[in-house]
Amino acid sequence: MLRIAIRELQHGPVETVGELPPSDPAFEGLELPLTEPVRVEGQLQATEGDDFLWRGRIRTSARVPCRRCLAEVDCGLDRDVDVLLTSDPDAADDPSVYTLPEAALQVDLTGVVREELVLDMPAYVLCREDCAGLCPECGAELNAGPCGCARSAEPA
Ligand SMILES: [Zn+2]
Ligand SMILES: [Zn+2]
Repeated sequence: MLRIAIRELQHGPVETVGELPPSDPAFEGLELPLTEPVRVEGQLQATEGDDFLWRGRIRTSARVPCRRCLAEVDCGLDRDVDVLLTSDPDAADDPSVYTLPEAALQVDLTGVVREELVLDMPAYVLCREDCAGLCPECGAELNAGPCGCARSAEPA
């Protein structure tokens, strides 16, 4: 359950457990080909200042191209989340704070899940530490062995 009624939160913390399929509208337009459902757990609670604190964990897996050779790499994502959700519009500039629509009746965590996945996305994925990449001349995959140009570039 990732949309929690604020009324319910007034009675105490609420467990946030859910699973979103990769096809969930929350991930629409996301350049992150998810290969597994997004598993979410955690706890949401109201703070004294009428804000909401969500501590949770988001896990899934995505298939991303190796930066050097473009081979597809399955990349596990596992992010601990500790964020504040507020309806205070002045907090909008704080990147660690999520704003709720004014007069919201529920806290919708799906947008947070989406943003946190983007943040967890590794910027530089390699299929392996010593990936040789592609030859800049002929485009051959050098992991399979040197191409013709590599040989001719070597000093005789
Ligand atoms: Zn590679
Ligand atoms: Zn080459």
